[in-house]
Amino acid sequence: MKEKYDVIIVGAGVAGLNCALHLPKDKKVLIICKGKPEESDSYLAQGGICRLQGEDDYEGYFDDTMRAGHNENNPAAVECMIKSSPEVIDELISVGVDFAREKDGSLAATREGGHSRNRICFHEDCTGKEITSKLMAAVTKLQNVEICPQNTLIDLICSEKECMGVVVVDNETGKVKKIIADYTVLATGGIGGIFENSTNFRLLTGDGVAICMNRGVAVDNVNYIQIHPTTLYSEKKGERCFLISESVRGEGAHLLDKYGNRFCDELQPRDVVTEAILKQMKEEGSSFVRLDMRPAGKEELSTHFPSIVKRCAEEGYDVFSEPVPVVPAQHYFMGGVRSDLNGRTTMDRLYAVGETCCNGVHGANRLASNSLLESVLFAKRAALDIAANFKANEQLTPEYAANNALLGDYSNPEKLLNSYKRALLKAIEEANK
Ligand SMILES: Cc1cc2nc3c(=O)[nH]c(=O)nc-3n(C[C@H](O)[C@H](O)[C@H](O)COP(=O)(O)OP(=O)(O)OC[C@H]3O[C@@H](n4cnc5c(N)ncnc54)[C@H](O)[C@@H]3O)c2cc1C
Repeated sequence: MKEKYDVIIVGAGVAGLNCALHLPKDKKVLIICKGKPEESDSYLAQGGICRLQGEDDYEGYFDDTMRAGHNENNPAAVECMIKSSPEVIDELISVGVDFAREKDGSLAATREGGHSRNRICFHEDCTGKEITSKLMAAVTKLQNVEICPQNTLIDLICSEKECMGVVVVDNETGKVKKIIADYTVLATGGIGGIFENSTNFRLLTGDGVAICMNRGVAVDNVNYIQIHPTTLYSEKKGERCFLISESVRGEGAHLLDKYGNRFCDELQPRDVVTEAILKQMKEEGSSFVRLDMRPAGKEELSTHFPSIVKRCAEEGYDVFSEPVPVVPAQHYFMGGVRSDLNGRTTMDRLYAVGETCCNGVHGANRLASNSLLESVLFAKRAALDIAANFKANEQLTPEYAANNALLGDYSNPEKLLNSYKRALLKAIEEANK
């Protein structure tokens, strides 16, 4: 790791990786991530990634996204995302992503809650791993990009209006380093790690968002948090909750009460289904409801959802012969660092992309399978914006940064990170009031 880069990207999920892939090859780029490279939520995505199915699908897709988001979405962001989706999928295919195909070779499309028709491209039930590993392979080949895992962002090097780089702690040595850059991109993902029950990796604790709050960068809708209706119920506490993708319901699975009766329309948006499940659990005095996957059919379950079938079996459930217990858990963060459609934040030279940012595309509630698409697309747009407007920060040297930045006390990084968690939880609590 050097002292200075043209661009530093914090985060190695689909957003960070796709940003790196679209930056000019003559720029020196550093990607850091908190844990191992594969410890990002991008690897966990099961269901898939949306793609506009043709001109006749535009209105339906737009309406579905707005309806799921309670019409609080930014219509310009939604339009941009939907219209760009075929190009995004083509680009992913060009880096080697293998989406499921119909017999005639066309892209197969599945469906999830809140969608009025099938429009989700997928790779079995591990679409995220397929996309992220192919993006990672493409980025690893780039001579201008250095990837340094196990380095945790603990602060931005910034004045009140301009970002000059990052302060990171090396997880293995505990050493704190200051690295300067002309541009910094936050792609630090979601905030699930601050909650007891979440589908997210535990290390995703919203550090990027909390640091922005602390440094006066605008952050929006911190209390817009999506709960996923169906995670596998487990007695074990403190572990990441295993998600049972909505596309299982899209392919026919039913939610059942304790008598084996259906109690809601399983294909409503996530917040509606979650509410119905929580109401049902309360009425029954139970810690879960049941998901019967058998209506999806044995062939569909075995070919489309092999990881889910396997994981349920590991937990002692045979999905071919019995319903499995499911419970809602924290899943996705619609709020985040305020950013425009090119990822620009309210601080000069600082961008935010992916789940960490809030560009308004999801409104108050995300439509299923819109987030991989959003992360990939707006990260590319940020890279192109940096490329088009690149202006070296001429005065920037380590000494200049040390003299002009609002630096903090980094003697105990763990304590600092815990204080960020508390600040974020408090901000969420206050926004909920
Ligand atoms: C179980 C599950 C299933 C999902 N299924 C789907 C789906 O089917 N379709 C869909 O569209 N979306 C799905 N999502 C949501 C989607 O996966 C994420 O929203 C998306 O991948 C976010 O990408 P990202 O690059 O912004 O963040 P992530 O992929 O989470 O990457 C975040 C990166 O930031 C790094 N980071 C975090 N904090 C720091 C720090 N302090 N210092 C250094 N690095 C840091 C992490 O190490 C990581 O590399 C799912 C999510 C989960 C959890």
